[in-house]
Amino acid sequence: MYNFLFLNFFIGACLASHACVIYDRFNTTDFLLSRSRCFNCNSELSILDEIPIISFLLLRGKCRYCKHEISSSLFLFELFGSFSFVSVDFFSQDGLITVIFIFSLLVIAIFDFKEQEFPIILLLLPTSVTLLAKGSMIFSYSLLDWLELIPTLLLMTFMVHRKKLGSGDLIIYMLIAVFFNPLFANTTLLVGSSLLVLQYLLSRKNEAYPFIPYIYLGMICLLLI
Ligand SMILES: [Zn+2]
Repeated sequence: MYNFLFLNFFIGACLASHACVIYDRFNTTDFLLSRSRCFNCNSELSILDEIPIISFLLLRGKCRYCKHEISSSLFLFELFGSFSFVSVDFFSQDGLITVIFIFSLLVIAIFDFKEQEFPIILLLLPTSVTLLAKGSMIFSYSLLDWLELIPTLLLMTFMVHRKKLGSGDLIIYMLIAVFFNPLFANTTLLVGSSLLVLQYLLSRKNEAYPFIPYIYLGMICLLLI
């Protein structure tokens, strides 16, 4: 599994970096081929300014040209995002499907972290991939799988109804439950919630926390184990 550790980390870093670019330029629709520019001075960035993780560290989080600070949260997404793909087999069909699924959730997690919401169209890719590749798995669920899934779904639906949780959180949970399995999704929620509580205890800020980035982190932790 770990034969391609560094290669996977590098590909993961590029994918995570591109996820950040999609967030940055979502409304411009030219996030595929055009070169990045500094948001402050509009200078076109060179290849050396765009090496995932490394460029941010070498430039000490500032634009090379105007010294304006680059968002450190996007750097953290680049870093955590890189770990997301370490255990994925890029050379198998199932692995590539997993890459698409993880990547699409990463983009959603970035949006949720930065905006506390995300464009609903971003659910199109992970939902399609989940239904097409894993949807039929539901029909082979054991009683234990349903016992894992139903109570959590009911609890989360109740929390959405009471406005303690966003409906996006519920959808992401369901997607993870169907794509992997209900036990995996529940453990992901447990790890994500623990990380969120830890963050709250460290920051002590009484504000609404976006949950999807923590669910995402929980998922990465489980994928790495
Ligand atoms: Zn600049």
